[in-house]
Amino acid sequence: MLKFTPDTNVLVLTGAGISAESGIRTFRDSGGLWENHRVEDVATPEAFNSNPVKVWEFYRQRYQDSISSKPNPAHFALVKLEQFLGDNFLLVTQNVDCLHIKAGSKRVLEMHGSLANCICTKCHSKLAIKDIDLTQPIPLCPFCNGFLRPDIVWFGEIPHYLSIIDDALRKCSVFIIVGTSGVVYPAAGFVLTAKLMGAKTIAINLEKPDNLAYIDEFYQGKSGEILPGLVAMWIGE
Ligand code: NAD
Repeated sequence: MLKFTPDTNVLVLTGAGISAESGIRTFRDSGGLWENHRVEDVATPEAFNSNPVKVWEFYRQRYQDSISSKPNPAHFALVKLEQFLGDNFLLVTQNVDCLHIKAGSKRVLEMHGSLANCICTKCHSKLAIKDIDLTQPIPLCPFCNGFLRPDIVWFGEIPHYLSIIDDALRKCSVFIIVGTSGVVYPAAGFVLTAKLMGAKTIAINLEKPDNLAYIDEFYQGKSGEILPGLVAMWIGE
């Protein structure tokens, strides 16, 4: 049975599935449609350039969903794991819903950005969404009047923190994946690096992920039901 000590170096990658039990829809549940939108129509720089009003409609709703949702037992289990491991823990999330931070995770990298912020397309100022007037069809920058865009890494854009994540993948002795389909790159390829560098790889997911071939231990089911028990076992509670 796998046991961690405070010296075990653990890297965790989460995806939309960890937030499903908090009521936030995953990307694939709607069969390629995301809340009745095609990804290309709402989550690409081209979509924003051609129809910023529609893109803002979509993200305004995502933001409202994130405000009203609460972390679930899987998010809290990762907080507990971080408290046990301290600086030997790092959480990388593909999610933009802020639920890890709401739960109390501190060592977290939001590689696809965050619904909590937006960025000016003209002067590049970063602002908290709570401080802007969201009733405008296209919210405007209070400093330069430029169009604001959500602080989200869209398809076709480069995720944040890739070099820090690469270092962490090479250093970790255990790599844990929670609630991600293993389809969206580059995150879907992280498991290969971790495994090649000698880490034990573990996944918790409702369905078999696409990168299952690189996973040593797979737990199939809901992360809110499975992860708390696994964390308790790993830290010897
Ligand atoms: P995905 O939708 O492609 O995959 C989600 C996976 O979670 C699926 O394999 C599904 O079987 C699994 N799942 C569903 N419910 C689960 C549960 N209760 N417990 C455990 N697993 C469960 O999501 P992805 O791999 O994260 O990739 C989609 C992209 O879209 C990501 O880039 C992500 O940033 C973005 N996205 C984010 C959110 C969010 O912030 N919550 C929501 C939707 C999409």
